[in-house]
Amino acid sequence: MLTVSDLHMYYGGVHALKGVSLEVNEGEVVAVIGSNGAGKTTLLSAILGMVKPRSGQISYSNQDITYITAHKTVNMGISLVPEGREVFSSMTVYENLRLGLKKRVGRVNQKEFDRELEHIFFRFPRLKERIDQLAGTLSGGEQQMMVISRALIGKPKLLLLDEPSLGLAPIIVNEIFDIIKGLKQDGMTIILVEQMANKALSVADRGYVLENGHIAMSGTAKELRGNREVAKAYLGVS
Ligand code: ATP
Repeated sequence: MLTVSDLHMYYGGVHALKGVSLEVNEGEVVAVIGSNGAGKTTLLSAILGMVKPRSGQISYSNQDITYITAHKTVNMGISLVPEGREVFSSMTVYENLRLGLKKRVGRVNQKEFDRELEHIFFRFPRLKERIDQLAGTLSGGEQQMMVISRALIGKPKLLLLDEPSLGLAPIIVNEIFDIIKGLKQDGMTIILVEQMANKALSVADRGYVLENGHIAMSGTAKELRGNREVAKAYLGVS
């Protein structure tokens, strides 16, 4: 579904991606793990079209999307849940979700939105109770659920999740990972960027280790969890 080939990306003089190649098949959850500054967010930004690579290629559903802008990739079915959540605090949950659909389709058809909301409420019953609440007053976990919902509205084909566990209490992290498992069971294709490598590899089919802008290792989630170097560097095993 998605192929990234030999991607190079610079921020001025900073060589953030140094020949990254990866592949995501339909229905797979692929984890990208790595420490701070490894280039994980940059990789997702490049796939979505928010930053322009210097060279290399990104193809999605057999189309070259390397230099296609985010507006178009969103219309093509790629959706990002950004790191740090980007909640519109002074808008209600309802308004935040509506904006998600507007961004995807341009003009919101109310009937379509109501239908989408039913799906969202089924998956996230807590958001139903909080639909008229200002988003800024939600707990961190609820905000993450809302932002994931916002990305899901309009039925994307490829979901990019950037550090969904960031800043959340362990019990809430478990809830978020249960949601990711549910999405996987429903057949969603996901790229999951995480510093919590153990968690990410527990839901992923395959994974890539990004180190200082290049792919240091890749394999099935099981292989990576069993790899001594990965365990030592990323899974907290001494
Ligand atoms: P983190 O988990 O801390 O977000 P990351 O793996 O997502 O890290 P990136 O945010 O992709 O890493 O950053 C990769 C490299 O590019 C880092 O060295 C970072 O300092 C640099 N970088 C990222 N964004 C910019 C920017 N807008 N301008 C200049 N350098 C940047």
